[in-house]
Amino acid sequence: MRTVTHWIGGKPVTGESTRTSPVWNPATGEQQAEVLLANRADVDTAVRSAAAAFASWSQSSLSQRTKILFNFRELVNARTQELAEIVSDEHGKVVSDARGEVQRGLEVIEYACGIPTLLKGDYSDQVSTGVDLFSFREPLGVCAGITPFNFPVMVPMWMHPVAIACGNTFVLKPSERDPSASELVARLWAEAGLPDGVFNVVHGDKESVDALLEHRDVAAVSFVGSTPIARYIHERGTAGGKRVQALGGAKNHAVVLPDAPIDYAADHMVGAAFGSAGERCMAISATVAVGGAADDLVAAVSEKARAVKVGPGREADSEMGPVVTAAAKERIVGLIGSGAEQGAELAVDGRGLTVPGHEDGFFVGPTVIDRVRPEMDVYREEVFGPVLSVVRADDVDAAIALINANPYGNGTAIFTSSGEAARRFQRGVNIGMIGINVPIPVPMAYYSFGGWKDSLFGDKHIHGPEGVSFYTRAKVVTSRWPHVEQATGASYHFPTAT
Ligand code: NAD
Repeated sequence: MRTVTHWIGGKPVTGESTRTSPVWNPATGEQQAEVLLANRADVDTAVRSAAAAFASWSQSSLSQRTKILFNFRELVNARTQELAEIVSDEHGKVVSDARGEVQRGLEVIEYACGIPTLLKGDYSDQVSTGVDLFSFREPLGVCAGITPFNFPVMVPMWMHPVAIACGNTFVLKPSERDPSASELVARLWAEAGLPDGVFNVVHGDKESVDALLEHRDVAAVSFVGSTPIARYIHERGTAGGKRVQALGGAKNHAVVLPDAPIDYAADHMVGAAFGSAGERCMAISATVAVGGAADDLVAAVSEKARAVKVGPGREADSEMGPVVTAAAKERIVGLIGSGAEQGAELAVDGRGLTVPGHEDGFFVGPTVIDRVRPEMDVYREEVFGPVLSVVRADDVDAAIALINANPYGNGTAIFTSSGEAARRFQRGVNIGMIGINVPIPVPMAYYSFGGWKDSLFGDKHIHGPEGVSFYTRAKVVTSRWPHVEQATGASYHFPTAT
């Protein structure tokens, strides 16, 4: 059985802890590896390695950092297929989808390649007679990233390229469910010329996360995962004086108005609901069918849901793979059942789907649940599976009110041909990322990604300009170079410009 080890100080490390967790192949239901689960001592080794590397990395020139980032970009680009296959084998998503995740991670590296421009400061000449004022930003120290299973390449890449470009060192604690991609990423950083200790990986569960949160040498924590853990990370991390951004779960609604082309909207509904088996924080999990659009929309979506080709992620014609674990499957199946029991209508029921030759795989078929109401469990919970709930609303204002009553605020979308309705929607919803006839409005790397309400704790969104701001702190210098021996006499009033 292959064992996934930590990566500390530029090499694979087994560490002290002998606890392990199974890594499954979701398409077959078999265990394919085990991953080490770090204890406090292992985390301490990684943080010490990163702290030691900070001394020189933080002093490296922008040119040196940029060269390494460009090298890293080339290596990740060249190894996209390999990374995607590792992701597919452990997560379950289809390889073409996994390639898309690597591409979106690559875009963050490309953004970080522009670090000389991103770190330019401000300069004000002669703010007072003979006095200049300028500001620049410095790195924080050791930054930690704690990431979810659903994007094992992209989500860590929202963090480490930006943090490292800013002059920090990094300790990544990836999801224990699909840990192997981080091992290859660490090797690529090393191959790119990154000095040992600047990028480290510790695998683990709550014990390692708590050790990072309590470590005095960790300056900042970026977290992406479910809302209860995000809230916990934010509370614990900030209580320890750390800078924290903690992105949580989601319930993303897509509103379809009667003036939207039904077939176009339905295609986007199924793509956004069932792509990656619904295991995306920006998946559409609730369609809000407004007015007369509802019946036709449910019919169109149901037909397309039945046609989705479900199969192993590695098979070229699979459009949707399995979910990540048997426990995830059981939870999703339970929530579908609760919807039916609580009075919703199962337009398409994905429970009981079997894939020939993969009977033990963790497959759940695309599911469409009509006439869902806000008090039902399948609406209140983040299902995180291939389940699309349809909620009906009378008009766009009722749809906006429904979305705003939801505790999550990650993404939302509207499908309409009315600019007026779209504008009312974009201004009215309390949501961080909005799509207009775009179902998954993930911003490009040079904008920042983040939700509102229970979808993000902290005040900085991730990557883009807010990412650079998160991983740096400002210094402001007020500077005077008087003529030698120019006596001005002591002054006791508060300094003002003259
Ligand atoms: P999760 O919260 O279970 O795990 C995330 C990380 O936290 C993992 O590294 C895990 O090891 C660690 N962790 C788990 N339990 C912990 C505990 N009790 N104490 C300390 N650490 C703990 O999330 P997941 O199931 O891996 O990922 C799916 C979730 O992530 C969904 O809720 C999804 O919406 C969310 N997500 C959000 C975004 C976003 O941008 N907002 C992006 C991707 C995923």
